Amino acid sequence: MKFLENFELFLFDLDGVVYIDDKPIPGAVETINTIKAYNKKVLFITNNPARSKLEYSGTLKKMGINAKSSQILTSADSICRYLMTKIKNITNKSAYVIGSKYFKSQIKKTGIIIDSGKNFNKTDFVIMGGHRQFNFNEINIASILIRKGAKFIATNHDPFYPTLNGLSPASGALLTSIETASENKAIVTGKPEKYLFDISMETAQFKNKKKTLLVGDNLYTDILGGINFGIPTVLTLTGLTTKKELKQSNITPDYII
Ligand SMILES: [Mg+2]
Repeated sequence: MKFLENFELFLFDLDGVVYIDDKPIPGAVETINTIKAYNKKVLFITNNPARSKLEYSGTLKKMGINAKSSQILTSADSICRYLMTKIKNITNKSAYVIGSKYFKSQIKKTGIIIDSGKNFNKTDFVIMGGHRQFNFNEINIASILIRKGAKFIATNHDPFYPTLNGLSPASGALLTSIETASENKAIVTGKPEKYLFDISMETAQFKNKKKTLLVGDNLYTDILGGINFGIPTVLTLTGLTTKKELKQSNITPDYII
């Protein structure tokens, strides 16, 4: 258990690390429970903005990982943090919001005025988290509002995520349609940006970055995010990244498993 002694806080990505399509990856449950048995702090951080913490907690419990809602952080948290810290007088600002019911409820909590977009009235922001019901109407409203001057803020740029059938589209694949139609790039707030890492350290009430370990399967979100934030990283080859991609990339994790 020498390796474990080096770390106190463990940040696990979910898709491709703990499970694929809610089916646990062999060894993941045992590993996480062993880490927990040593009284280490464990948090789960995902770029998927659509599902609630309660849903994630339920999924993990079914697999045999006892994780409270408060131990789960999603890119919905990252975008709320961005809005609360970067935008002055947020309660006087308006936004057209694209996302799941859960995502919209989180954005509403920031106090920003939600505009339905129905009348194509100028808004301050278009805020997006990918969701399964994403449609033409949303692309249309968002693109027109962005062209009218709304700032485009989105959770994440991940183009796809691993499923048992193959790689399925993620938020990045969807938001690209709005970027193309509006000729504007989105600001993203999930990994590799710092917000989810900041919130993780605060949630764990832990400050020692050298004793924090990020475990992820995506070089460009998890590993790059961890490196930029200054914490050691583990790449798992159980999800997105293949050995070949790892070889071709100049992003170097500290450990590969
Ligand atoms: Mg992943």
